[in-house]
Amino acid sequence: MNVTQQQLEELIAECRPYTVLGQVASYIPELAKSEPTQLGIAVCNADGSFVSAGDAETMFTLQSVSKIITLAFVLETFGEDYVFSKVGMEPTGDAFNSIAKLEETIPTKPLNPMINAGALAVTSMLPGEDAADKLNRLRQFIADLLDIELDMVKYDAEVAKSEFETTDLNRALLYFMRYHGVIEGNVEEIIDVYTKQCAILTNCKGLAMMGKILSQSGKTPSGNQVISRRNARIIRAIMTTCGMYDASGEFSVQVGLPGKSGVSGAIVACGRSDFDMADLGIGIFGPALDLKGNSIAGTKMLELLVQRHP
Ligand code: GLU
Repeated sequence: MNVTQQQLEELIAECRPYTVLGQVASYIPELAKSEPTQLGIAVCNADGSFVSAGDAETMFTLQSVSKIITLAFVLETFGEDYVFSKVGMEPTGDAFNSIAKLEETIPTKPLNPMINAGALAVTSMLPGEDAADKLNRLRQFIADLLDIELDMVKYDAEVAKSEFETTDLNRALLYFMRYHGVIEGNVEEIIDVYTKQCAILTNCKGLAMMGKILSQSGKTPSGNQVISRRNARIIRAIMTTCGMYDASGEFSVQVGLPGKSGVSGAIVACGRSDFDMADLGIGIFGPALDLKGNSIAGTKMLELLVQRHP
């Protein structure tokens, strides 16, 4: 099935009013400058064509959506046995930045790669000589996924700096994990890579392409197998159980697509063959967030889209 431009324009018109019910993230000072009424959507259809509506061209930072990309990269590089020896695969039901379960799990291991502790552990695995090399290799991986040149994968230096200067809780998670032998290396270097990875810029079309690759078992629309079928399945599974913070269960009931959100208001979602939505990728940007940290109008758009294509 192909979603049409008109369907997306209707969704934007219907759901933009929901933006007033949410709030932009402010714990990263630069993100507080986002315009809360923005709302955009892009879909990469089953036939590879793109349609979009609203603020679909606006560039924004990936934030937690970057966690599925770093996960894909380390799975492809080191294999699942190594990756899951350091980070688990169970949902927590806790806030994304919670430290609680990390202390309770024995031996210490972050419960999944979507909470910050797990994502930081994944970032600490990135291959490379130093922070700059690690970030460049990650940018190259993204360029390969999106079939674009490396120079086009940029990060927002202001957002990265703003988070780097304020992210004491993420530092605390890393020190805790290093003490317990979960990670190795220099905490400031991992924070440097992590804050820049989270600040990588994209738009709704970029997210739709990522969703498309995952829903097509790791293949780009032009047929390149950029992620193995097995790893694409692992990532879709983790998105389903842990992708929407501690609202992942509700999102699975109301929307039912593998999804991953970020505090910038990004959501990437993958079509599913048991809906009228096989092989489809969806990218959304709506910086007004609900209390759990998911784009409030973006989630509503996905609910309506799925209701209309059951
Ligand atoms: N950079 C953000 C953090 O670690 C990402 C959080 C998110 O998007 O959930 O706090």
